[in-house]
Amino acid sequence: MSQGDEPAARVDIPFIDLAPVNQGLKEQVLAQVAQIIDTGAFTNGPAVKAFEEAFASYCGSRFCVGTASGLDALRLSLLATGIEEGDEVILPAMTFVATLEAVEQAGGRPVPVDVSELDYGLDADAAAASITSRTRFLMPVHLYGQMADMRALTAVAERHSLVLVEDACQAHGARRDGYRAGTVGVAGAFSFYPTKNLGAFGDAGALITGDEAIAARARALREHGQTAKNRHQASGYTARLDTIQAAVLLTKLPLLDRWNEKRGRLAAMYDQALAGVGDLVLPPRPPGSEPVWHVYVVRTGRARGLERFLAERGIASGRHYPCPPPLTPAFARLGYRQGDFPVAESLARESLSLPFFPGMTDHQVERVAETVHEFFRRG
Ligand SMILES: *Cc1c(COP(=O)(O)O)cnc(C)c1O
Repeated sequence: MSQGDEPAARVDIPFIDLAPVNQGLKEQVLAQVAQIIDTGAFTNGPAVKAFEEAFASYCGSRFCVGTASGLDALRLSLLATGIEEGDEVILPAMTFVATLEAVEQAGGRPVPVDVSELDYGLDADAAAASITSRTRFLMPVHLYGQMADMRALTAVAERHSLVLVEDACQAHGARRDGYRAGTVGVAGAFSFYPTKNLGAFGDAGALITGDEAIAARARALREHGQTAKNRHQASGYTARLDTIQAAVLLTKLPLLDRWNEKRGRLAAMYDQALAGVGDLVLPPRPPGSEPVWHVYVVRTGRARGLERFLAERGIASGRHYPCPPPLTPAFARLGYRQGDFPVAESLARESLSLPFFPGMTDHQVERVAETVHEFFRRG
C-alpha cells in the first residue's frame, strides 16, 4: 500500500478504504465481542467451529482449520501434508513474501519460477521444467484474485506425483474451469488480513482440505501439537484463530459474494474506462475464469510517473509487488539474480494497483480513470 516516494499533500481517493464495509457491522460485532468477554472463551470458542463449518461449506470443501494468519495456514498446510527437510516446493516468483516464508519455515526449499502473462499465476511449463528429484510440492498462488491455470498445473502435478497446495490468500470465492480456489490441491490456504476480500478485524487465516487426517494434524499443530488436552503428539505452534476474529468472520462471510460482485463491477468499469489508453495493459481475463479482484493492477512502461501524477492529484495507489520475493534481500541466500524471472520482474517494474475496494463509488472510479487519461494525454 505504498503511496509513492513523495507523500501526497492530501488523499482524496485512498488506495483502500475499509470503513464503508466495516462501519455497518460495528454494532453487531460489538455485541458479539461483549458476549465473548462474558463467557471468557477467547480461544476455541463456539464461533471458531461455526466459522470453520461455514467457510468449508462456502468453499465447497469438507474441512476447515482456522489459524492465526495466512502464513500459519500455508505453513500448517505444508507440515500437515508431510513436508520433509529439504523438499523442494515450486512456487511463483511473483507473490507476497509469505508464500516463500511458509516453505522455509516448514523446512522446505522454495523454488521460484516465472509467472504466466496470461494470468500472472505459476507458469505450468516453467514449473514442469524446474522439477528435480527433490521436488515434492507445487504451490500455485491465485494472484490478485485470479486463479492460476489449475487445469495445466494439476496435469503437471499428476504426471510427476507432486503434492498440490494452493496459496488462495487473495482468492476467496474465485473459480476457473470448474475449479474453486483452495479445493484443487490437497490443501488450500487463506488469509483474512483486514484488506483481503474476506478480512478480519486483525490477523486471521484458515486452511481447507478434503482430507480428514490433514485437517486433524493441522488442528493439532496450531495448538502445541495437542491431539487432546495435555496430549502432545508433535512439536507445534500457537497458531489458533481467535474466537473474536472468528465471530467477525462469521458475520462477514454471508456478505462476501456481494462484495466480490461489487469488485467485479468496479473492475469492469475500470476495464471500459481505461481500454486503449496510452500503453496501459489491463488485467488479463483468461476464458473460463471468474476472478474475485483482490486488487486491480494495470501495467505501463511509465508506472512510476503515473503513480506520482495520481498522488499529486490526491489519488493513492499500491504496488503488488515492487520486487519479486526471490530477489529481495530476505531470500538472497537462494541465489537468484535479476533476469531470472522476466515476467515477474516486468510486473514489478510496470505494475500499479489502482484504488479499489467494495465501498468505492462510481464517481471515484471515474475520477481515477479521468486522471489516468490526463496523464497519458500530457505525454
Ligand atoms: C496475504 C497473503 C499471505 C499471507 O497472509 P497473512 O495473513 O498476512 O499471513 C500469503 N500469500 C499471499 C499471496 C497473500 O496475499
